Amino acid sequence: MSKKLLVIGGVAAGASFAARARRLCENAQITIVERGPDVSFANCGLPYFVGGEIVSRDALAVQTPATLNAMLNLNVQTCCEALRIDRAGKRVEVCYQDRSETEWLSYDKLMLAPGATPLRPDLPGIDDPRIFVMRNLQDMDRIAAAVESGMRAVVIGAGFIGLEMAEQLRHREIVVQLIELQNQVFPQLDAPMVKLIESELHQHGIGITLGDGVAKFEPAGEFVRCHLSSGKVLDADLVILSIGVRPDTVLAREAGLALGPHGHIVVNEFQQTSDPDIYAAGDAVETHDRVFDDKTVVPMGGPANRQGRVAADHVFMPEKARPYPGSLGTAIARAFGVAAGITGWSEKRLKTAKRAYETVTVNDHQHATYYPGAKPLTVKIIWEPDTGRLLGAQVNGCEGVDKRLDVLATAITAGMTVEDLCHLELAYAPPFGSAKDVINLAGFAACNRIDGLVEQVTVLPDDEQVQIVDVRPKPLSEAFPAPCPVINIPFPTLRANLDKLDRNRPVLTLCAFGKMSYFAARILKQHGFNVQSFSGGLKANVDPRSPAKLPTA
Ligand SMILES: Cc1cc2nc3c(=O)[nH]c(=O)nc-3n(C[C@H](O)[C@H](O)[C@H](O)COP(=O)(O)OP(=O)(O)OC[C@H]3O[C@@H](n4cnc5c(N)ncnc54)[C@H](O)[C@@H]3O)c2cc1C
Repeated sequence: MSKKLLVIGGVAAGASFAARARRLCENAQITIVERGPDVSFANCGLPYFVGGEIVSRDALAVQTPATLNAMLNLNVQTCCEALRIDRAGKRVEVCYQDRSETEWLSYDKLMLAPGATPLRPDLPGIDDPRIFVMRNLQDMDRIAAAVESGMRAVVIGAGFIGLEMAEQLRHREIVVQLIELQNQVFPQLDAPMVKLIESELHQHGIGITLGDGVAKFEPAGEFVRCHLSSGKVLDADLVILSIGVRPDTVLAREAGLALGPHGHIVVNEFQQTSDPDIYAAGDAVETHDRVFDDKTVVPMGGPANRQGRVAADHVFMPEKARPYPGSLGTAIARAFGVAAGITGWSEKRLKTAKRAYETVTVNDHQHATYYPGAKPLTVKIIWEPDTGRLLGAQVNGCEGVDKRLDVLATAITAGMTVEDLCHLELAYAPPFGSAKDVINLAGFAACNRIDGLVEQVTVLPDDEQVQIVDVRPKPLSEAFPAPCPVINIPFPTLRANLDKLDRNRPVLTLCAFGKMSYFAARILKQHGFNVQSFSGGLKANVDPRSPAKLPTA
């Protein structure tokens, strides 16, 4: 007898499950029920339609029930909501919204892929129709219809969706204010690694308010007035709420399936829930953290698609199915001409979890500096002190951010150490990279640290005893002064000026990118100084988009 598969939720995880299931079994009966009018649409592309970068709405509606039927022989019911699961009877009650009819659909195996709902906190005024969330094509249509050039928008929440929305609204010549509760945008990353994005947003006229949240909304004539906790008031024609998501797991809870502490469905490595005939995948589930042996949640498109595939494999070839190995939480966001991203754990997350780590930040360029168009690129790596194993990495810059992030995600997945990074043989020709790629440099810098060649600090000392030596060229030192008193000894003149320094007092070397200060620290150390180097340099004071030929010593 053919197997009956029923899928609740027909977008990333659900559609991926159904497609793989069909490829494994031609005669299975596969039904998808989807609450919305669209199936298998590109939710990640929604912001770009609002901003006009994606011009065709049809491009986002990747499949329709008819194409899924034609290509995969799937029975797709849109505008059809699953209401309850009868586990004992192995059936699901569904409601066809257009007919207001309900029906019980039976299954041999059930896939729960209901995703997550954007948070809409219960604040005064939250029901104002000018306050939007972005989850599906209908949300996108509503926002696109509301947007007119010259309007004012407030985007609340500066995670990757908030950043994308702020950027895209700006493309439509909207005056945008971005509000974030934490003290930085893109809060998954460590604060110094998002400064570049923050400065780019400022340069494109986006106002940023950090460390503040919305307390209430109220109608104010043609505007909706946003009152922030600090007392600040912002009037807007439209508000985008992008403050996170909550797993859509009411059905699973009511069916008595095991849920994690934050309401996510608990699954095993083959995506089976506490009921072996019910699988779950995507934003609604808890998953395994790939770096440490922990539980985590990663509401992202990649994990959702791959988990759906794992579940289908387990249904049709349990003996061959490969377990889902867990997620790293790799994420990237662009703001106009710059990008930043993370893979694995951040420094602040490790600190909060009280886990031991070491970290270095290096600055270089995406390709050889003598080749036209070289632009700065910053890489931060974090590793386990005892083993050297990579725990996380972050990258920012103008070009080549995704490439480095992907290499580092692969390295973490492979359990590589910082030593392994030193000799990764990455593609190099002048338009693409450097003979020593910035990833190799990160490995070198980590090994220098491990070998005791240099002591590094990431915070400027508040101690008058410390002699801070700025080894940048004088014009650069004067044009972009360090935020503390310094002795400027340009690097090429250091050996000749050692007598300007007091050997009995500690020295900190600093420069623009952290490289020359390391070289200077090596000279001083070998001359008997007690010296530290300022890791990562004063890059924040250098225009990140300026050509590589700036005096960057
Ligand atoms: C604007 C936006 C941009 C994004 N950008 C990125 C990105 O750049 N990179 C990235 O990795 N991720 C991105 N994501 C996240 C990514 O889209 C999600 O992680 C992924 O879609 C989750 O897949 P899912 O199948 O779990 O849920 P979804 O894709 O949300 O699908 C769940 C579906 O289930 C349906 N459903 C729920 N309950 C029922 C029910 N009872 N009956 C019937 N149907 C039901 C819902 O209507 C929904 O359509 C973005 C998300 C959004 C909203």
